[in-house]
Amino acid sequence: MKFHQMHISDVEKALQTDMNRGLSDKDAEKRKKRYGENVLEEGEKPSRLRIFFSQFKDFMVIVLLIATVISGLLGEYMDALTIIIIVITNGILGYIQEYRAEKSLDALKELSAPQANVFRGGKKLKIPTKEIVPGDVLLFSSGDRIGADVRIVEANGLEIDESPLTGESVPVEKGTEPVFGEDLGIGDMANLAFMGTMVTRGSGKGIVIGTGMNTAMGKIADMLQSAKESMTPLQRRLEELGKILLALCLVLTVLVVVIGVLQGHDVYTMFLAGVSLAVAAIPEGLPAIVTIALSLGVQRMVRKNSIVRKLPAVETLGSVSVICSDKTGTMTANKMTVTRIFAGGKVWAVTGHGYEPKGDFFYRDRKISPKNDPALEKLLLFSALGNPTRIVQGKDGYRLEGDPTEGAMLVAALKAGFHPERLAGRYKIIGEFPFDSARKRSSAAVETGGGKVFAVVKGAPEILLQLSERILWDGREVPLNGEYRRAVNAVLEEMGTSALRAIAVAYKPLSKRGGLSGDEVERDLIFAGVMGMMDPPRKEVRQAVKECKEAGIKTVMITGDHATTARSVARELGILSKTGKIIEGTELEKMDGEELEEAAKEADVFARVSPEHKLKIVRALQKSGAIVAMTGDGVNDAPAIKQADIGIAMGRSGTDVAKEASSLILIDDNFATIKAAIEEGRTIYENIRKFIRYLLASNVGEILVMLFAMILGLPLPLVPIQILWVNLVTDGLPAMALGVDGAEEDVMKRKPRHPKEGIFARGLGWKIISRGFLIGGATLLSFLFMYSRHPDQLAYAQTVAFATLILAQLIHVYDCRSERSIFARNPFENHFLNGAVLSSFLLMLLVIYYPPLQPVFRTEAILLRDWLFIAAMAALPTFLLTGTFYLRNQKRYDIMKEGN
Ligand code: ADP
Ligand code: MG
Repeated sequence: MKFHQMHISDVEKALQTDMNRGLSDKDAEKRKKRYGENVLEEGEKPSRLRIFFSQFKDFMVIVLLIATVISGLLGEYMDALTIIIIVITNGILGYIQEYRAEKSLDALKELSAPQANVFRGGKKLKIPTKEIVPGDVLLFSSGDRIGADVRIVEANGLEIDESPLTGESVPVEKGTEPVFGEDLGIGDMANLAFMGTMVTRGSGKGIVIGTGMNTAMGKIADMLQSAKESMTPLQRRLEELGKILLALCLVLTVLVVVIGVLQGHDVYTMFLAGVSLAVAAIPEGLPAIVTIALSLGVQRMVRKNSIVRKLPAVETLGSVSVICSDKTGTMTANKMTVTRIFAGGKVWAVTGHGYEPKGDFFYRDRKISPKNDPALEKLLLFSALGNPTRIVQGKDGYRLEGDPTEGAMLVAALKAGFHPERLAGRYKIIGEFPFDSARKRSSAAVETGGGKVFAVVKGAPEILLQLSERILWDGREVPLNGEYRRAVNAVLEEMGTSALRAIAVAYKPLSKRGGLSGDEVERDLIFAGVMGMMDPPRKEVRQAVKECKEAGIKTVMITGDHATTARSVARELGILSKTGKIIEGTELEKMDGEELEEAAKEADVFARVSPEHKLKIVRALQKSGAIVAMTGDGVNDAPAIKQADIGIAMGRSGTDVAKEASSLILIDDNFATIKAAIEEGRTIYENIRKFIRYLLASNVGEILVMLFAMILGLPLPLVPIQILWVNLVTDGLPAMALGVDGAEEDVMKRKPRHPKEGIFARGLGWKIISRGFLIGGATLLSFLFMYSRHPDQLAYAQTVAFATLILAQLIHVYDCRSERSIFARNPFENHFLNGAVLSSFLLMLLVIYYPPLQPVFRTEAILLRDWLFIAAMAALPTFLLTGTFYLRNQKRYDIMKEGN
């Protein structure tokens, strides 16, 4: 018999499990060994060896190797051997870079790996989805992606979207009854839920019947194209650029070779020099370094509590100009405490701290037990009924399991002595319609021990006022006319001004117990009262909002909460400016596209919004040219999260669906983390600019020395092996160290970067070319100077040129740390960079002074006094450009002074 045909008890027997306790940990461990991990098999990854050999498949490297073999055959064994060693070392460096890049990308995947709720040994646990085994008892609710194939054993208004399997996007209702029949399709098996499908409504429990490749999803796994890693826009642009640079390098090297030969140099030497030059000048390491900079940056972000799910987001983060953020839980602590209650026409104060179930009830400053006030008692009883949360006493105080809003109501009820466990005997929940932020209410049908049935509805006060006919006032249920409505609204206004979040409670007797629809339960209600709960703003948010403002980023608060409450909190956090507006969901609904666009530009707060309003807000902001980050947590938030340039999901309160739609996850659900992520995003982008600037200027310098020398009819200023060595010691480590450089202190004082901005924007192109010219020129000058003094000592002049070129680059690398000048910040704070520069410097000294290497690298020991000259020449470019920088800014400063 198949699982869908069995009764639940038979399923338990067949899989040797217990739907209320789940598997024991030991049993689960054993099953994991037997069935393996719950994962779909992926295509093969390139092996390490493949990555290693792919380092040598570059056209120019192959040419170089062939040239080496030729020179070996011609008898230049030493040359050949050295070139091969250098090429292999280069290959190893490239391999390490690429391997690291790959590893850190894997680490990222691991971080955002899905999790599932299971029962194990009677306890509710969160485990990685890949640990699920057959027989596990899985819990799922609206917004979860089902982690394995399960037979459903409990369902509350459960609906599942099975489109990943069936292509049918209308959610199907699910139940627990056995299903019979021939040729059942996936969609017909209403008591099964399948791996990869998504809960759109309600909640449920199921016993796992299949994992990994042994699921409906596994059967079609090879049909599912594993999504290709997408390149970031910058990576794509760099690839384009790489092609142009390659062509340019080749043209210039050919030019060097041709002119050299015309000037009477030996063809073979020129050929080898040309090939070496091409190998040195083509920035083949660039893509790998970019990946490393991106992924190391992403790891730094993890330490600051945000997970980047899509690499391109790192770049987009730097362009964000508007952050739309939820209020509750993101800007506030999401630690709610009921402090005020409106019941039966009276306003009560409640004392107590956090979730500690201790406190008293006061009416007009007199402590009164709720037992003595039937209206208050009723409200508190209703708060406890069907309340799915739990208060647990831990080492450091009381902790809440579940939704904070409902937790606060539970705590209030506990203060009056209503314990859900003790109530369970007298009241039975026979139907539930869970809360969702579009309906802004939840309800339950309850049956009493005496056989009576009634409904309890909790939700946003305005909505419950609309649904209510009567109100409980002074012990009587009276018609809810204008006078009473005004009274309630006055209380709500008062609560809002005190920044309290208000939840109303209403009820009514029901005449039947089965087949109830949400609509039937939630109309013609009797309004019982309102609970006002305090949710203090997070301390760090005010500062974060301020820093965002300085960085040209506007913060917009979006909340389902009441406008007055939103206003109080937004004021306190510095979000609502003097001229700023609050727009409510109902107003927003009436606006057409243009009106909304105008309004969105001015609004600081959107209140009483539904998830679909969020999508409209994002679109309107984007139309006006903003780059929008938008937070969300529920299933319904997914479209807005997807539409936003940076979709942000909450790590703790977020559903799988929201997380999957997002490009950034906040581990701590904290607004301040968004600011930190943006700061990191900007830093990463700037770092990428830094090493592009460094690498390209160095390469321009290398080519130009050779080109100028050939045009002037000089001997080669550097021999091929020296060129390769320069490339080896200056390109790799220093560039990588720039990739992990710290931020300049003004990163969060600049405007957001324009998303279409090219790599060479903001003067970078000029910086590269001017610096390349200066480095090339300085190297050539020091060569010329030495050579003209002692034309018979060519090797000495070449060694001096070699040292100047390397030193000039190692000084330039410090320049690259700032957009302004080398002295704009302490040049030596990046220890990786200091280490990289020092090791490059020592490697240079090694080939200059170590006698056995001198014949190989055609070097001669440089005299101490000549180092002074070399240092001066190498520092010349920095000196000149820093000087002009200060002169120009001085002039600007003078103009500013004159203007005043
Ligand atoms: P936000 O998260 O922006 O504060 P929500 O969409 O969560 O907004 O809530 C909107 C309104 O719905 C709240 O102001 C409150 O009145 C009501 N509400 C929130 N959570 C619950 C809940 N668990 N049960 C009943 N009503 C709720
Ligand atoms: Mg909420």
